Formats: sequence, structure tokens, C-alpha cells
Amino acid sequence: ESVVNKIAAGEIIVGPVNALKEMMENSIDAGATSIDILVRDGGLKVLQLTDNGSGIDKNDLPILCERFTTSKLTAFEDLSSIQTYGFRGEALASISHIARVTVTTKTQSDACAWKVSYAAGKMLGEPKPTAGKDGTAILVEDLFYNVHSRLRALRSPNEELAKILDCVGRYAINAFQIGFSCKKFGDSQFALSVKANSTTRERIRAIFGRVVGENLVELNLAENPQFGVSAHGQVSNLNFVSKKAITPVLFINNRLVTCDPLRRALNQVYGSYLAKGNKPFIFLSLSIRPDLVDVNVHPTKREVRFLHDDEIVELVASRLEDALASVDT
Ligand code: ADP
Ligand code: MG
Repeated sequence: ESVVNKIAAGEIIVGPVNALKEMMENSIDAGATSIDILVRDGGLKVLQLTDNGSGIDKNDLPILCERFTTSKLTAFEDLSSIQTYGFRGEALASISHIARVTVTTKTQSDACAWKVSYAAGKMLGEPKPTAGKDGTAILVEDLFYNVHSRLRALRSPNEELAKILDCVGRYAINAFQIGFSCKKFGDSQFALSVKANSTTRERIRAIFGRVVGENLVELNLAENPQFGVSAHGQVSNLNFVSKKAITPVLFINNRLVTCDPLRRALNQVYGSYLAKGNKPFIFLSLSIRPDLVDVNVHPTKREVRFLHDDEIVELVASRLEDALASVDT
């Protein structure tokens, strides 16, 4: 086992939630419309994701967990126009260096599903035929079993589960075509459940509760050709009273990101509301022309850069001002 690989893996996957995020993004890239997650011991014992996406070709299984194995990039020029989350082929490789990984997958043209396990980037044995629906299930067991320092540094299983639910919830708000569920091992009820094709408001309500869901205003920005941007979102109106901070749910080109200039501008619009100690809920999804966004960011880095940022932030903030003013207080 190479120490270098283990260290590299630990930089990308610092907790169960990082592994889960990579797995969810792969499922979304694979066109899944359902994503079901099972968590045991905060994801440290078991983290399982089952999707109904494209599946993985049997011929690709031997190298699936090798570094730089990706089906998503054919030429280097593709980077500027990349539409998928993945393109580095590092996630599964990393996870396989610090956990036991088992993949069960079936493409539409396969007569049966194939199941195979991985360790340290390598396939263990041959894929075995098994029963299964179209799609992919990735089972990650005993995460960090060989990285004791990391295991010690992690919080309680409940805190890791909370991070997982938060992450799934954020993706679920944005990916309206996908149904999501998340269950804790041994529980009969879902910890989170969102139906495919439910509205953004229904999703926010299912995830953040009735009060949040009933105090929203919609925000829409039709495509602005000058700055190459369009936006939609749901944000708290000024009647919403809550002291509980919820980190803004911000997507840019379907990537969950942070954007300090935008956050500051929104805070200014909410000025007196915030001054009273209230905390708004904010969901915003921006589409920016891909060639104007810096996509080549590290997997763990979330702050996003784009051209015309001043103008775009200004546009969104003034739209928010209008939306808030349109609600009776
Ligand atoms: P990347 O997403 O950067 O390509 P990953 O390590 O995340 O790298 O995944 C490696 C490859 O495994 C992907 O390019 C894809 O071909 C395949 N893959 C992983 N998960 C899935 C999935 N849920 N459905 C279909 N293919 C998958
Ligand atoms: Mg990926």
C-alpha cells in the first residue's frame, strides 16, 4: 500500500460526507433520476449509494478505481466546456485507498448486473454476475480503516450523519429531476426523502421544514446576454422569523459553491432584517456561460471565480431587492 496514495486520498476525502458528495456527483453525471443512500455509523461503517443511472460498462470495471480513470473527458480542450461534475478520475481511486469499495452495476444492454470489489486502486478478482436493476450501487465500508489519525479526528457518527444529510439536502434542492432518499441503518423511516420532479418549494419544505417553505419569494433572472448569466432561486421573505443560521445554498452551473462577493451583496439587501437577528434561507442557482467560469478548481475548494462578477452580483442583488419588496410585510 503506497503511503503517497493514502495521503493524496486523505486530502480529497477528509470525512464521509466528501466521499458521498463525489458519489452523488457521479450518479448525477450518469443521468440518474433516483439516488438512495444508506448510512451506518455516520458513514464510517457503511456508506452506500444506489442510483438508476447509465451503469458502468463491464469492460471498464478492471480500471475503475485506478487514478485518472474517467469516462468524461476525451480531449484536453474539453475542460473549458465541461458539463459534468467529474473529469479527474480521482474520486473512486481515492476512496478505494482508504476504504473497502464494492460496485454493483448494470447497463441497459447488460443481461445481468456485475459485482466486484476494490482495494488500493485495484480490482479484487473478477466481476461476478448478479441480479440487479439498471444503474449502479457503490458500497463503501470501513472508511479510514487504515488511516487511524483521521478516524480519531472525526466527530461522532451523529455529527457525520448530520453533515451527510445537509449535503444531500443541498443537492436535492437544486437537482429537481432527481428523487433522493437517505436512511440511517436500522431505522424504518427515511432521514430525508424528496420525490423526483417535485417543485423547488416542495423540496425546500421537505428538507428545511414547513416554516421555511411557506415564507419564500421566488427570484428569477432571465438570461442576460451581456454577462452570460441567468438565475433562479427561492429566498426567505421578510416575514420569516428565524434565528437559526442556514448556510446559503448556492449553485453555479450546478456546482455547490461559495461566492463571497455574492454573499456580501445579499447580506446588504437583507440589512435591517439581519440587524434584528433574523437569518434568511437562501437558495440560488446561477447559470453562467461555461467559458466565463473558472472550473479548474481543486475538488475540496468551493469558492468560485467568474468574469463580470461585479455586474452579475449587482444584477442578482437588485433582483432580490425587487422580490423582497413585492411581499407584504
Ligand atoms: P470522474 O467523475 O472524475 O470521472 P470518478 O473517480 O468520480 O472520476 O469516477 C470514475 C469513473 O467511474 C467515471 O468517469 C464514470 O465513468 C464511472 N462512474 C463512477 N460512478 C458512476 C455511477 N454512479 N454511474 C456510472 N458511472 C460511474
Ligand atoms: Mg466523479
